[in-house]
Amino acid sequence: MNMLVRRPLRIGILVFIALTMTVNGYAAGHNHRDTSLFRMMIRLWPEHHMDPELSQQLIDALLQYDFCDEVWFCGSLPATRCLSFHDSSATQMGIIADRLRRIGIIPSLQVVVIGHGDSATVFSPDGYQKDSTIHWGTMVGANGEKTMSVNCPRQEAYLAFMEKAFVPYAKACQPYSLYLDDDMRMSQHPPAMEGCFCETCISLFNNEYGYDFNREALVEALDRNDGEGTLRRQWIAFGQESLANLARVIALSVHKVSPGTRVGLQHNYFHHNMLEGWDWIPMLKAMEEETGLVPPVRPGELFYSDASPRGILKKGLEIAREIRRLPDDVVEIAPEVEGYLHKATGKSAQGVCLETLYYLAMGATQMSYAIICSAEEPMDWYASHYFKSLAELKPFAKDYADFNLNAMPTGIDPYMSPNLCVRNVRPEERPWAWTYTNAGNTAFGIAHLGLPFAPEDPHSPVLMVDNECAAGMNDQETSELLTRKNIVTDAHTWSQWAQRGLLEGYLDVSPPIIDDVTIDGARLQRAWNQIALKISGSGRRIAVVPSFNSDINGAEQLVLSQVFDWASGNTLQAVLESVAQVAIVPRSDTQGRLRSVSLLSCSLAEEEHLKLRIRPLGTYDDRLPKKYIWKRPGKRDIWLKAKFEGTDVILDIPSLGGWEFGWIKIN
Ligand SMILES: [Zn+2]
Repeated sequence: MNMLVRRPLRIGILVFIALTMTVNGYAAGHNHRDTSLFRMMIRLWPEHHMDPELSQQLIDALLQYDFCDEVWFCGSLPATRCLSFHDSSATQMGIIADRLRRIGIIPSLQVVVIGHGDSATVFSPDGYQKDSTIHWGTMVGANGEKTMSVNCPRQEAYLAFMEKAFVPYAKACQPYSLYLDDDMRMSQHPPAMEGCFCETCISLFNNEYGYDFNREALVEALDRNDGEGTLRRQWIAFGQESLANLARVIALSVHKVSPGTRVGLQHNYFHHNMLEGWDWIPMLKAMEEETGLVPPVRPGELFYSDASPRGILKKGLEIAREIRRLPDDVVEIAPEVEGYLHKATGKSAQGVCLETLYYLAMGATQMSYAIICSAEEPMDWYASHYFKSLAELKPFAKDYADFNLNAMPTGIDPYMSPNLCVRNVRPEERPWAWTYTNAGNTAFGIAHLGLPFAPEDPHSPVLMVDNECAAGMNDQETSELLTRKNIVTDAHTWSQWAQRGLLEGYLDVSPPIIDDVTIDGARLQRAWNQIALKISGSGRRIAVVPSFNSDINGAEQLVLSQVFDWASGNTLQAVLESVAQVAIVPRSDTQGRLRSVSLLSCSLAEEEHLKLRIRPLGTYDDRLPKKYIWKRPGKRDIWLKAKFEGTDVILDIPSLGGWEFGWIKIN
């Protein structure tokens, strides 16, 4: 077809040269990145390679709008279909993969592994159980709930099946990456919400650690927190090993037939699920060991429609936390932007574009779009809305991603203790309450107030400790944290720490006097009167605010910003000094030098003359004059005039539209 030659082949060649360079970068283990990693990727479902008409429509649409660098084909749920089904599906996938390669698009693959849960019918609407090959033990929950379609990762017969399951696809497609779906988890597989407590798993666990538990006794001992955390940590490590071993089996078998394929992981908010462990390193390590290639990842989940647009802040902050828990050499980070179930009534093209920019600001390097999978809308609609908008956005997004490649979000860390998995459950809580935490979530509700949140920033100058986190930390951990860190907390948490006798030797500090041209001094003073500022014997700053509630007035917003800045020792690299509903994301490089600041408007209103204080020098004594360029998609760049207050720089941002993203490039 004529259309096939419309997109020049040289794009494909350039992409592969760039990828080769990137691979060499990984092999050397360099944290510093000097090759663009930015790619836009479209995720597919099986019909996109199985249905010839839909395949053709997809290829035509990708040719018409030049934005897509990579597609992720989708295999069917492996163990619920027989191998002969997979053979023909793989052959068909290989044909479409070749056609995409010829037009410069990289084929990759995403696969379900364990099964999400018995209620998930997503991958085979025609009855996913009908030619199931499952003849091994399935996953069992803590109360003996037996699943029908969720596989236990420790079953020998299942592992033997998984050694073969993706081989036909890898052989036929030679994918750049094979992503294991986020069903690579131990918990949240309904009806088994905390797995796997099958007899095989318990017996292997007993053998490894020298116990003699049956299911009921193990569940009780975990809940009681036997060994003051020892048993829970062992059980969590055992679950991580179960998954790592499964990942290893898959990676090895895929590598044999497609040596250039990296095996990667789609992971979601497992940091709230204590049974999953602190990070995904055991799985990622297994993948890398078997393939010799650093795994790519896809963080993020939920926020599937525009119904509550500020959900973008929650998703972005969750993604930022997930990124911080990755090993340094994992650099291909493509969060999901998802419109499940991919309907025009769900997510707008503007929503998809805003998410792209905000998640890039949070530290992602690429973007993975699950926006057309269900094919609920005609391909024409997807193309003329999503594809067209992404094609228009791409140069802007790539410029942002490339410029900020070696910089990360910096600022306030909404703290999550690494020891919440071993906290003791209080009598009023439900059994198993320790397996889930909302610690740090308080930040989501106030992120639109101009506070620069940077979850798990290792150089964060100030922590925000909310009550959920504080209640889960024991006295020793709390005392150590109070000695080491600057903290902002709420009055309720402060009084609980006082009752526990943890607050010796704090000196009260008088609030600073602030003038503001827009808000009179009396109102500002009233706002300050609600705050307590304190300095500890070790010189750490603590600010106590009434609560982390977003229902505050303009004066209180300005003061809240100042409070966080004071607690940081006045080292936050960006401070919003205007009353506005705006999220801000400063990014600084490995030496702490400020590289950029992004602003996302979180209301319908256009904001004018936003006053932003930035600290571009950071800890680095660089006195060369800098340029501050204000950039927004589809608009002319504006050079901002810098006003100095000591070493701080004050910028007047002339305008930011309703739900608009802009960023300041610091050159
Ligand atoms: Zn099991």
